[in-house]
Amino acid sequence: MKHKSAIVLLTCLLIGLVLACFASLIEITTLVSYENWFTSGEMFAWVTANPYEVGDIADYCLRYVWPYWVLCLLLYLALGVLIGWLVVKRASLLTRMLSVGIVCLLLLPFILPVRNSLLREIVCVIRQVHNIEKHQNDNICFKYDANRQDSLDAKEIYVLSLGESVRYSNISLNGVYQRITTPLLAEQSNLYLYSDYYANATLTQHALPMLLTDVACNNFVQHFNRKTIAAAFQEAGFTTALISHRAQLMNNGYHDYLAKDFDTLIFVKHDSLIAPELANLAKKNEKLFAVTHYLGNHMFYTNRTEDCLVWRPDYNADPKTKSDSLFLNAYDNSLLYTDRLLNKEIETLRQMHKAAAWFFVSDHGEYISPKVSGHGHTYHPTKEEYHVPLMVWYSDEYKEAYPEKVANLIKHKDEPVCADHVFWSVLDMANIRIDSTLQQDGLSVFEDTLLPHRRTLLLPDGKSIMTLD
Ligand SMILES: [Zn+2]
Repeated sequence: MKHKSAIVLLTCLLIGLVLACFASLIEITTLVSYENWFTSGEMFAWVTANPYEVGDIADYCLRYVWPYWVLCLLLYLALGVLIGWLVVKRASLLTRMLSVGIVCLLLLPFILPVRNSLLREIVCVIRQVHNIEKHQNDNICFKYDANRQDSLDAKEIYVLSLGESVRYSNISLNGVYQRITTPLLAEQSNLYLYSDYYANATLTQHALPMLLTDVACNNFVQHFNRKTIAAAFQEAGFTTALISHRAQLMNNGYHDYLAKDFDTLIFVKHDSLIAPELANLAKKNEKLFAVTHYLGNHMFYTNRTEDCLVWRPDYNADPKTKSDSLFLNAYDNSLLYTDRLLNKEIETLRQMHKAAAWFFVSDHGEYISPKVSGHGHTYHPTKEEYHVPLMVWYSDEYKEAYPEKVANLIKHKDEPVCADHVFWSVLDMANIRIDSTLQQDGLSVFEDTLLPHRRTLLLPDGKSIMTLD
């Protein structure tokens, strides 16, 4: 009987060892690659990410991590052998228990602090998945009761353009960055860049619901009770469309609930097809509101054409070269391509010669270093991960219709604003207000006065909040 109990005990220990080994491999991967414990945000992103992203990240991580994996596997193998030896050896129960104790003591400092954090993160990711599955239809009866303050007789086009991982510090439009990464946007008239705009999340899965609804970090889960901004535009008489890269968030099975309020859904296989699709829709519709969502500058910055390879060595084009600037060069090359795409979108609107306005923000920024690149990997993000560009362009016809809005927009361009302002600004850009019980004033950059607003950031567990000011 004693012998049987010992076998059961040792079998449980072996199973525990295998699970611990698996968890350790995951955490070693993020520790080595990103110098941080595995976060729930990452875990969730891995679950919901497209194969393109998963393949890229896995490839990147394995290049650096494989020696640590080998060491870790050898350690666990040795412990497994020790446990097996205890099972077959005819030692006394006391000796066996003593040996098990030694194994546990050996594992304890390696496992315990890590497991506590991992367990917490696993609980967070289960909660996030559960929330989506349970609440994604909670908004069926929701209405914004949106209405326009006036109605232009002429054709109108409004665009909310969402970038991916564009950080403020690397676009030369800021007048500071030495590399000319945005030459075409710099030539655009009627285009204004805000100098002090912060994202309110460092992961797309958190940023997007807050950009598309009126919720903020402190009431994030309430976005399930809201419809997106597309519904408000619909109520105000607009045709609404989403044009997104097919690898982006609103085309995955977890976040497609954010796309259901749009009249038209177009998922393209390349970012360069977004502007032509917008042109088609703009021709067909008198009153159009479109959200364009780019794959953009997501790591590892392969989204560009060959002629954008200006800064070398590039991580993707010259991978065998060793240089501290490998990632930075690749990132800046992809920004050069983004400049073309966004310029093309603006040109599409300009050539319509109608009242049109374009509001661009990036969902979050990017952290780039010689070894580590990415976003949302840590509970201590750097400013580069949340200081991102907000740009607004308007047509001459729009300025004629709304001179005061344009004046206010220019007036506020160096004031502190954040992603909480986007929903209200985009509605106000089209002169739309919603039900008085929901309407919040002082948060639109098109208003005369911006009220003081505390800027915050939702951290990777989708719950913790960091104050930015
Ligand atoms: Zn993103």
